[in-house]
Amino acid sequence: MSSSSSSSASNTDAETLRRKRINSSKLYLDVNPSKVPVIYSSYYDISFLGIEKLHPFDSSNWGRICRFLISERYLDKNSIVEPSEASTDDLLVVHTEAYLNSLKNSMNVATITEVPPVAMLPNCLVQMRVLSPFRRQVGGTIVAGKLAKERGWAINVGGGFHHCCSGKGGGFCAYADISLCIHFAFVRLNISRVMIIDLDAHQGNGHERDFADDGRVYIMDMYNPQIYPFDMTARGYINQKVEVVSGTATDEYLKKLDKALEEAGRNFAPELIVYNAGTDILDGDPLGGLKISPDGVVQRDERVFRFARERNIPILMVTSGGYMKSSARVIADSIINLSKKGLIDMASQGGRK
Ligand SMILES: [Zn+2]
Repeated sequence: MSSSSSSSASNTDAETLRRKRINSSKLYLDVNPSKVPVIYSSYYDISFLGIEKLHPFDSSNWGRICRFLISERYLDKNSIVEPSEASTDDLLVVHTEAYLNSLKNSMNVATITEVPPVAMLPNCLVQMRVLSPFRRQVGGTIVAGKLAKERGWAINVGGGFHHCCSGKGGGFCAYADISLCIHFAFVRLNISRVMIIDLDAHQGNGHERDFADDGRVYIMDMYNPQIYPFDMTARGYINQKVEVVSGTATDEYLKKLDKALEEAGRNFAPELIVYNAGTDILDGDPLGGLKISPDGVVQRDERVFRFARERNIPILMVTSGGYMKSSARVIADSIINLSKKGLIDMASQGGRK
């Protein structure tokens, strides 16, 4: 009896500390109304001695997406929202101190990012060149929650590290940006019902573990069960599991998605949707195993945005995995399509009307 009451007291203490950290965070920037809720910083891009080329993820992908949108005049450079970098206090909202300390060992970062030579680098360089860009993207996902609430939608041209949970990273994911964003939304936006729609090819085991028994979060995950991470425990935490096996093509994929969205809409009425829009479902992706055409990805994103916008639910999108050179072009095309269909409005001073 006494042990259970002391454990519930320490839970309350932990929750109080979490709220304090969230309320004192500087990540919820006041964004000028002239800006468009597309979030990006040149600090996102990881580039260091060529080590970034050792992972199939193209770490200049994020910058290229923006360059396409800007050069084709869909987005004005000055209207992009520049996020701040998440601080240690921000990260502690979800992460354990032990986990953050483990990142002070370059060997652990090498394992998480799947780039073995990172193990040989002094940790100060790893912090500066690898982890700091990730922390900036975390800041982007967190402020995307605020902007989605204010504007109806937001797109972080990065983030979506869905394999990382409070105490463990992996699969190129060092910080749990989705879990962090949702905790910030609970406290700062006074939201209590969030839906995660995770359509990256891989199962989103990070947020699944973080929100395992949390009734405030509804998780729909459509993933290939034949690839990483094979996290059976986390699969048990998915509210709506949609498995798509290797070789699944566009038509079948979109049909399954339509059915899944319909069911999700019947099951749960969220106040915010976090959309993890990995493009590793593309045909030819070396990791995803699926056969979705570039137009299929555009259709997929349109369906998810339509689902949210028709119901008046704020939606934020993060770009997550995608391991082909063509991913950036497909993401840019998809954002352009959302704009043409009137599902997002990227017009600002200088933007295309
Ligand atoms: Zn993935």
